[in-house]
Amino acid sequence: MFSNRVLFSYILLLGVWACQTKKAADKKKTDSVVTKKDSVVALRQSIVPEVEQRMIKQGLVDIQTLDSTIMVELKYSTTDNFVKTDVYGDLTRAYLQSKPAEMLVKASKALQEKYPDYRLLVYDAARPLTVQHTLWNLLDSIPPKKREDFVASPAIASIHNFGSAVDLTVYDNVNKKPLDMGTKYDFFGDLAYPRLEYKMLKEGKLNKEQVANRIVLREAMIKSGYMRIESEWWHFNAISRAKAKRLYKIVE
Ligand SMILES: [Zn+2]
Repeated sequence: MFSNRVLFSYILLLGVWACQTKKAADKKKTDSVVTKKDSVVALRQSIVPEVEQRMIKQGLVDIQTLDSTIMVELKYSTTDNFVKTDVYGDLTRAYLQSKPAEMLVKASKALQEKYPDYRLLVYDAARPLTVQHTLWNLLDSIPPKKREDFVASPAIASIHNFGSAVDLTVYDNVNKKPLDMGTKYDFFGDLAYPRLEYKMLKEGKLNKEQVANRIVLREAMIKSGYMRIESEWWHFNAISRAKAKRLYKIVE
């Protein structure tokens, strides 16, 4: 009787031990699956920065996925810009709302049909509103009214903030450099104004080749439906600010 009880207890203990061992093994298995899943998520996040994920969620597209011949060098992701500060950090790819992106592909095709050695080189596209605030604040030594000549007030928002404007130039793929447009990107002054080109030409401040190069860019962009502005040779709007506001949400 006694030995039967001992035997029974022993079997019971053995059962509990086996059950706990299995549970521990199952937990370890689950943990390793979770760890693996987490690391895949973390890896994806490190590949696609958070700011890009937000833009993708809002329906914006990476323009190079539509046309890999379009070149991208986001100047605000470098220190080679008018505030001499990298304000984009992880954002290095150019995003636009899908309609403006399709229009840009059309412009790229129109350019290459006429000039097979030329490529569009994008300096800026969709710009998060947080960056608009940063740019605005970095220029705080300039009074607000004058500051609007350089950067749109974040209170109004730029068409860039709606993913519907693009800053770009033309790249010569044979000589491996951008065409000479007479000024650098983000040069703020009369020389950058398309509406003053002929005056600048007459005064010898721009040469014929520089004006002709700007026309090459404008022709391709306007053919695809983009609109130029009067104060920056590099900036083009796919739609008006009012329409952008109606159709799209601001990229935060
Ligand atoms: Zn612009």
